Amino acid sequence: MDQTKRSRTEAWFRYADDLGIGPYYLDRASQPKPDFSDAPSSVLGRVGASDEISAPVSIPSLAVADTSKPAAATPRRAIDFASAPPAIPRAAGPSLFESADRIEGDTLERIRTDITPDCTRCKLHKARTQIVFGVGNPKAQLVFVGEGPGRDEDEQGEPFVGRAGKLLTQMIEAMSLKREDVYICNVVKCRPPENRLPEKDEIATCSPFLMRQLGVINPKVICCLGACSAQTLLETTQGISRFRGEWFDFRGAKLIATYHPAYLLRNPAAKGEVWKDLQKVMAYLGLQPKRR
Ligand code: URA
Repeated sequence: MDQTKRSRTEAWFRYADDLGIGPYYLDRASQPKPDFSDAPSSVLGRVGASDEISAPVSIPSLAVADTSKPAAATPRRAIDFASAPPAIPRAAGPSLFESADRIEGDTLERIRTDITPDCTRCKLHKARTQIVFGVGNPKAQLVFVGEGPGRDEDEQGEPFVGRAGKLLTQMIEAMSLKREDVYICNVVKCRPPENRLPEKDEIATCSPFLMRQLGVINPKVICCLGACSAQTLLETTQGISRFRGEWFDFRGAKLIATYHPAYLLRNPAAKGEVWKDLQKVMAYLGLQPKRR
């Protein structure tokens, strides 16, 4: 197979995987799944009494299951943070994050100043209106990381304010949090033209600033929204559906990836999966679901 065909086929596999239809194209059985079922109780006890999730709770804006019935009394299941995170293959090549992205006394303001409003480090500067740095609580326990600003974000200078952003806000509120409680940012700070995916060189250029943001905020949980952010932080090319909902250790924080809200707008049937992932985050942070 020539290189162009191979790249196209790989791109299609990644796309299919992101859509959750990867299993029809790939033999998933050959991918070893970690088994945490026999994790020692000391591991289970590490995050306290809240490290359990109940059956999915139906919330009108997110639920896809039959919301007319109360949540079924399915057995409670322990979330176990086994010491070995699930193994996913790292992308080939040098790490994006080997540069000194931990800076003594760093602050969000300093990072913003370092980026500069007229940044021209990558080609995304050509079509953007403004830099979309990030918003929210600088001491948030939970950080959501998206892919890159869209049109509304580019206009308003704030991440996740368009349709996908409104859904994210609903997701946050369903977790009994407010937008101001969490921090929201993206892998790249400038809008990719035509809302295309950020390219490798753009991610490589901009993501050190994301790493610094995460370093300064020092959250307990990082929730990656979509494949771009998950693959960037986990340094993998695996499709998100292979590892979404799994916990990873990430520089002292827990990282979990879930589907992007824009994907949910196109595929509302996936909301249930996302809600399960958010419930894991809630259990870890000791948050109770909002009462209706
Ligand atoms: N999609 C993203 O990934 N980020 C935004 O800020 C908005 C839409």
